[in-house]
Amino acid sequence: MLKDLFVHLCIMIAFLFVGGSIFKNNPYEISLINKMIFGVFTGILGSLLMIFSIQVESETIIDLRHIVMIVSAIFGGFVSSIITSTLIAISRLLFLDINTEVIIVSIAIIFVGAIIGFISSLKISKSKQWIFMVVISTFIFSIILYFRIRHLDYFNIILFNYWGLSIFGGIITYILVNYISRSNYLNYEYKKQATVDFLTGLKNTRQFDLILSNLMADAKIQRKNIGLLYIDIDYFKQINDSYGHQAGDSILHEVGSILIASIREHDNVFRNGGEEFSVILLDMNLEKSIEIAENIRTKIEKHPFLLPNNLTIHITFSIGVTTSQAVGDTPQNIVKRADDALYSAKSKGRNQVCWSLAKEERDHPNRYNLSAKDRYKKHKKFITTR
Ligand code: GH3
Ligand code: MG
Ligand code: MG
Repeated sequence: MLKDLFVHLCIMIAFLFVGGSIFKNNPYEISLINKMIFGVFTGILGSLLMIFSIQVESETIIDLRHIVMIVSAIFGGFVSSIITSTLIAISRLLFLDINTEVIIVSIAIIFVGAIIGFISSLKISKSKQWIFMVVISTFIFSIILYFRIRHLDYFNIILFNYWGLSIFGGIITYILVNYISRSNYLNYEYKKQATVDFLTGLKNTRQFDLILSNLMADAKIQRKNIGLLYIDIDYFKQINDSYGHQAGDSILHEVGSILIASIREHDNVFRNGGEEFSVILLDMNLEKSIEIAENIRTKIEKHPFLLPNNLTIHITFSIGVTTSQAVGDTPQNIVKRADDALYSAKSKGRNQVCWSLAKEERDHPNRYNLSAKDRYKKHKKFITTR
């Protein structure tokens, strides 16, 4: 029996570790499809445990399939639990000679799956759910055992063993599953913190470097341009000094939301640090990039920012714009051009959009939609119509 128990636990532990690494992405939002896949996964594990069950006497075998159903319900809820129990019930019908008793037990397995699934929806802590699930499922399977083998002299010993195994298996699995989900949670959080700016929820500067190089490489292959906007809030230090750091933070947070709302879904917004942001626009020429930058600038200029002390203030943006060049451009070059353009916007008095032409555009202005002269006129218009 100890040998069976050892094999049984090894199968379960191995499966749970594999399952933990398959389903480790985004522990907060498990989609319906993932719940269903998890249900199938645990259903296969439950069926395997049934095959590699623990022989307690010549005619009686016990196993921990209900513990697997519990794991399924805890992580995948009702849907997953029903799928797991149905799969276990079906494999039971497939592997055993079908008779009334086998059919009744199979229905009981699905019934237990439903009860466990229901408990998983109760608004109590996970550990309480776990205890309820172990006790109720073991109780129901004990009743089934009673009807099947109550005539045996040593029925009480078998029942005692079953409860002992259930509680032992339940505790081991609880510890193991907690360990796996905690490591998955930490892994997810570390990954998130390494890529997301915590104040605004935007992608951070590390992501900027990575995404810019990837997108530039793609753009080169597809012979498309990308637009880059470098954005800096004007006189932000004064805002901090006058209204406090917390007010500054609330503005940064809101700026993040406004930027997200101002671009298309497939474009990217980053907080590059402090009060500096950037936007990468896909498949975008210079004129269109300038237009988008100008829209953002106007939107911000008009937007009333409500501070924590209920005061409303206005802020402005200086924006530097450039686009990637079809040949020989590098992330360092495009960043430098956007930064230079931003510097121009600052030095020309702030609250404006300036741009820097790629060398190719400067050398061959006629190849592009607008001549350098027209661009200059347009630029002038931006500044003078403010
Ligand atoms: P300019 O128009 O030349 O850009 O002036 P500025 O004051 O915006 O620029 P400066 O670089 O002198 O100051 C940036 C300020 O941004 C200084 C710093 O206190 C503030 N800052 C940077 N990060 C944060 C942050 O996370 N929260 C808040 N509240 N302020 C920040
Ligand atoms: Mg700055
Ligand atoms: Mg600034």
